[in-house]
Amino acid sequence: MDFTLTDDQKAFAEGFSRFIDSTIVPRGEQVDRDKVFPTDNYKALAEMGYLGLGMPEEYGGTPADSVVHYLAQEELARGCASTFLSSGASCGLFGVPVRLFASDEMKSEILPGLIKGDLVGAWALTEPHCGSDAAAMKTRARKTDKGWVLNGSKMFITNGNCADWVVVAAKTDPEAGYAGVSSFLVHKDTPGFSAGTSLEKMGCRGSPTSALFFEDCEIPDEWLLGQPGTGFIQAMQTLEFGRVGMAAFGVGIAAAALEESIKYAKERTAFGKPIIKFQPVHFKIADMRVLVDGARLLGLRASWMHGRGECPQSLFSAAKLFATEAAVKCTDMAVQVHGGYGYMAEYRVERLYRDARLGPIGEGSSEIQRRLIAQETLAMFA
Ligand SMILES: Cc1cc2nc3c(=O)[nH]c(=O)nc-3n(C[C@H](O)[C@H](O)[C@H](O)COP(=O)(O)OP(=O)(O)OC[C@H]3O[C@@H](n4cnc5c(N)ncnc54)[C@H](O)[C@@H]3O)c2cc1C
Repeated sequence: MDFTLTDDQKAFAEGFSRFIDSTIVPRGEQVDRDKVFPTDNYKALAEMGYLGLGMPEEYGGTPADSVVHYLAQEELARGCASTFLSSGASCGLFGVPVRLFASDEMKSEILPGLIKGDLVGAWALTEPHCGSDAAAMKTRARKTDKGWVLNGSKMFITNGNCADWVVVAAKTDPEAGYAGVSSFLVHKDTPGFSAGTSLEKMGCRGSPTSALFFEDCEIPDEWLLGQPGTGFIQAMQTLEFGRVGMAAFGVGIAAAALEESIKYAKERTAFGKPIIKFQPVHFKIADMRVLVDGARLLGLRASWMHGRGECPQSLFSAAKLFATEAAVKCTDMAVQVHGGYGYMAEYRVERLYRDARLGPIGEGSSEIQRRLIAQETLAMFA
């Protein structure tokens, strides 16, 4: 088994890492304070080709294998979790279903702008009363002669109030359970569509989150993605990409926490010596390192297998679960290593700690991942 990256993968990762350190890291604190979509970072990512990673070249995409994509995601999360989240919702959660299920006409209309950073996308599955149990959604789409009419609301939607286009899941056959869900494109200027103000959040504050409302929102037939009734399967396929992305989110944040802890522990002195010399601090560094490496290995394995089209669901879930929980543990240890300063907003670890907490909740909570892993594992022993 060979764990080394190819020369191309290494060259990309190193170049992208330099860009993150020079451009994204220095803006992280301000993005968190501004609490608005990080347009400058989004545009810079477009110029670097990040927004088009894995997208078809005919629309301006950047050819990249799934491992390169994972490495870039991890670096971006290390640099700025808010930027990671908003660009991931746009080009991943929104861009993936457009790439996989939209008509050629809609792809031509949306993908070039998305890849250039001129358009922002969002993906709306969660509703005020249901997230994990997505099939319990109440949003309805009714067929008419001209197209479809949407009614209902969505909750916690990343980029909800700044997106140009949204992919929306709605029930087209309420009696049919999972098979009654369809997904649609909705443009922000469509009458009957509106978005709430940005919700106040614990972390990832530079990534706007809002509710969406659909009141007799009429859309044309061309905005249906794929066939009616395939929306739930589409959502699950989209979440495969999302879970690899969330693994990268966890590893990136955990790696940043480790980096900051080493820097601080070498500089801070207590009882006449740098605190790095105290074994409890030393051991925290070791524990963080093991968590980062273990999470990275799972993330890389999931991304590599995903690229080959052979990844079992439980591996996506394991990578997401382990990395996002590792990030919570590592940022907690990093705050502890920083003592009182770790609790202060001017120190990066305070933000990392808040940002990390999203990981075990978003895109399928830790409990839902454990459920999926257990189901697949038990089936192997049935
Ligand atoms: C910042 C942020 C951004 C988000 N962005 C988006 C987005 O862009 N698009 C989108 O569609 N959604 C988005 N979400 C929603 C997110 O995916 C949901 O919050 C998540 O799936 C959990 O759903 P819920 O909040 O309804 O919690 P619930 O489903 O109500 O769960 C509450 C608790 O019960 C547990 N639980 C539920 N069912 C089970 C079960 N069967 N077994 C064990 N435990 C269970 C959960 O694990 C959790 O701990 C975002 C959320 C946040 C916080």
